[in-house]
Amino acid sequence: MIEFRSVSKRFPDGTLAVGEFNLVIPARRTTVLVGSSGSGKTTLLRMINRMVDPSSGTVEIDGESVQDRDPVTLRRSIGYVMQNSGLMPHFTVIDNVSTVLRLNGASRRDAHARARELLDTVGLDRALADRYPSQLSGGQQQRVGVARGLAADPNILLMDEPFGAVDPIVRSELQQELLRLQRELGKTVVFVTHDIDEALLLGDQIVILDAGARIVQQGSPDEILANPADGFVSAFIGADR
Ligand code: ATP
Repeated sequence: MIEFRSVSKRFPDGTLAVGEFNLVIPARRTTVLVGSSGSGKTTLLRMINRMVDPSSGTVEIDGESVQDRDPVTLRRSIGYVMQNSGLMPHFTVIDNVSTVLRLNGASRRDAHARARELLDTVGLDRALADRYPSQLSGGQQQRVGVARGLAADPNILLMDEPFGAVDPIVRSELQQELLRLQRELGKTVVFVTHDIDEALLLGDQIVILDAGARIVQQGSPDEILANPADGFVSAFIGADR
């Protein structure tokens, strides 16, 4: 379980990205943070692995403040998948994934074997393992990004608009793949998107955010569709549903 307790974030230039924010993110479920551009989604996500530290309040994982954890070790224990896949351009596909395993102590041989399994897990053809990221399609790159995110076998997987840069058909395939993976692996997934349809498809819990990460509504997809909290949510999910 991840818990935000009275968290705020003001950047040095004075921008208040997150006001007083409280949220419980249950384990082994997918929580989707959805909201318009600039509402603070990425800032919240990055507070979980200490890429950003709060100005006040605490973020806890299983009751322990992340502030008490060494950021490097913390980040190695949490998967992180970003929009542009975050792959290292001068490393082959297999090395992009196996590097994470090696950082966590695996031998080169074991790391490669496990990396190949992970490529299977995310549905990437093994024949692509020795290519460089620039030789892959956007969707294939995202699959490698997800394999990388899963490499350390983290309990928590943070995903920041992971399918935002691919075309609608590939995006739909990747969403289905994530649903399948999630049924098999049962990770605690925190998924950021500005696409409410994606949120309703993937989320067990959906948190709709407005500027300053103000929670406008929180609930299951069914709860949100059946009873949109106010005009903001109705407009967001579309009046024609
Ligand atoms: P998007 O959907 O566009 O990625 P977001 O909901 O993820 O947006 P954040 O990236 O968390 O929003 O940004 C929240 C607010 O904080 C925005 O107003 C943004 O301009 C500001 N912000 C983010 N990072 C910084 C920074 N390093 N310094 C100053 N302001 C920042």
